[in-house]
Amino acid sequence: MNKLIEILQKQKNIKVIAPEIEYEDYVAFDLSAPTTDKLNLPLTDANAFEDFVESHLTKNNSKVAYGGYLEHRNLYQRSTVFKDVNVEERNIHIGLDLWIKAGTDVLAALDGTIHSFQNNTALGDYGPAIILEHQIEGLTFYTLYGHLSLESLDGKHEGQKVSKGEIIAQLGAPPINGDYAPHLHFQIIKDLQGKKGDYPGVCSKTELSFYKENCPDPNLLLQIK
Ligand SMILES: [Zn+2]
Repeated sequence: MNKLIEILQKQKNIKVIAPEIEYEDYVAFDLSAPTTDKLNLPLTDANAFEDFVESHLTKNNSKVAYGGYLEHRNLYQRSTVFKDVNVEERNIHIGLDLWIKAGTDVLAALDGTIHSFQNNTALGDYGPAIILEHQIEGLTFYTLYGHLSLESLDGKHEGQKVSKGEIIAQLGAPPINGDYAPHLHFQIIKDLQGKKGDYPGVCSKTELSFYKENCPDPNLLLQIK
């Protein structure tokens, strides 16, 4: 088996958001294109979308809605970050989204250091994002936390040590978070390809085999059932 996947699956009791909420209080949230089309979801209106998330949580008696790894979505169509007339559209989501209200604490998944951070300000981008670097059993890999509050970047420096479960940020609100309903985009990255404070969270169909390998399913680590 792939060494990184083996390492991820070996970890236990990982939380990246709201440590007080148990995984049994999480509910799956399907944002694939057929579903969002069918429900006619307000994809371009962050506040209306947040209301939809709230109602999904209430209906399911849950506290966090999660999902989205390898989901084909159409909620990126409003943003030029994901579209270029000469390039194939990027609409496959390669992280895991955790939907809960702005201000919720975001935690380091594992021991590590701050690799880099940045406010990615384009519409539909991450807004403030932090990338942590981890070394386990001689393997280096990264975790990315996107859609944070601006204050989350205050006082941070590259190389700063963080411990598993340490609060590293809070969830941002629209429009600072890229103008989405509040959620954490959490992604695991094997090779950062020289990037800092940013890494693609969505890819095109032709890129998928590379990104699937380079960004394994975050739920191998979180183990939300
Ligand atoms: Zn995401």
